Amino acid sequence: MMEPLLAISAFNDNYIWTYIDKIKKQALVVDPGDAGPVIAALEDSEIDLTTILLTHHHKDHSGGIKELKKRWNAVTVIGSANSPCHDLTQRVSEGDKISFGPSTLHVLEIPGHTLDHIAFYNNAVLFCGDTLFSAGCGKVFEGTYDQMYQSLIKLALLPDDIKIYCGHEYTLANLQFAKKVEPQNSAIEERISFANQMRKNNLPTLPSTLYLEKQMNPFLRCSIATVIDSAEKQAGKKLKSPVEVFACLREWKNNQ
Ligand code: ZN
Ligand code: FE
Repeated sequence: MMEPLLAISAFNDNYIWTYIDKIKKQALVVDPGDAGPVIAALEDSEIDLTTILLTHHHKDHSGGIKELKKRWNAVTVIGSANSPCHDLTQRVSEGDKISFGPSTLHVLEIPGHTLDHIAFYNNAVLFCGDTLFSAGCGKVFEGTYDQMYQSLIKLALLPDDIKIYCGHEYTLANLQFAKKVEPQNSAIEERISFANQMRKNNLPTLPSTLYLEKQMNPFLRCSIATVIDSAEKQAGKKLKSPVEVFACLREWKNNQ
């Protein structure tokens, strides 16, 4: 419904996910932290940038918006109702819908990494910024562990075959941590070979799917016995809830 998507690389490891409607010659980009690579990708084919989606306010996701607005004056810039970003032209909240050509995207509020963090999704695709990564999740900068965990659960309730387009290429590093948590999990091992192969050829390891993430992403497995055991060993005490397991994993990863 929105695919195929183009992965425009920015900075070291950001992706600016881009959908081009070739018939109308219009494009939508998600989280343009840098304008240069977007302009370079669209200019040659005379594509009009009509829509920018912003998942959260961090500069590596929003830093290119001003310049893109200068280049494409009519562009609609859609972000959270609570976003501190001044460049938005449309503010959205949970349950709101966005249309781009024949596609509709829905808005979910997923605070934790930042308080203004939102996701955009439909049956085919999920743009989740820095909340859910392949084999990992974002750092909890502005929200609480509880908020972040609830946000991940919200995403995990979407259809299993939905394709996950997240903001960064962090997969291999995340998988190394996942392996520490669950050394016996063969899904992690398989994903490491896949990710190594892709990165060797300079290709993204994304999109992932929720189906895959549920098998290997420790942050979505806080109710699984092996993950609980491992987190309790790390914490040196019993953990009383999935949120406590989540918080332990998040701190463990921060401090490794
Ligand atoms: Zn961020
Ligand atoms: Fe980021």
